[in-house]
Amino acid sequence: MDCIFCKIINGEIPSEKVFESENIFAFLDINPKAKVHVLVVPKKHIESVKHLEGSDEKIMGELILVAKKIAEEKKLAGYKLIFNAGREGGQLVDHLHLHLVSPDVKCEHRI
Ligand code: AMP
Repeated sequence: MDCIFCKIINGEIPSEKVFESENIFAFLDINPKAKVHVLVVPKKHIESVKHLEGSDEKIMGELILVAKKIAEEKKLAGYKLIFNAGREGGQLVDHLHLHLVSPDVKCEHRI
């Protein structure tokens, strides 16, 4: 499948990995829009939020909990979790992903 995020998950394209579990992969956004900008993605190829099915409920719960865990580990005081859905919603990569963004000035390192 010609999907850039599937290739990142498989290691075919390099990334700065932040977290990996059985179902979830997280890495630094290559073009950060904030001091902290992590992409949290399901390993399963789901095109977008618009393509979610009932059976994806568990994986989507895991996705959000992983974002929370990363934010806690990095001691972020506050952050935004954003899904862009569809071209009109600003989605450029057709593999569902959650943006974890934070301008936290107390976080010394971009994660
Ligand atoms: P979206 O507009 O919601 O589809 O966001 C896609 C995000 O993927 C953008 O913020 C890009 O900077 C990011 N991105 C694209 N290619 C890569 C890559 N190879 N490694 C890391 N992030 C990427």
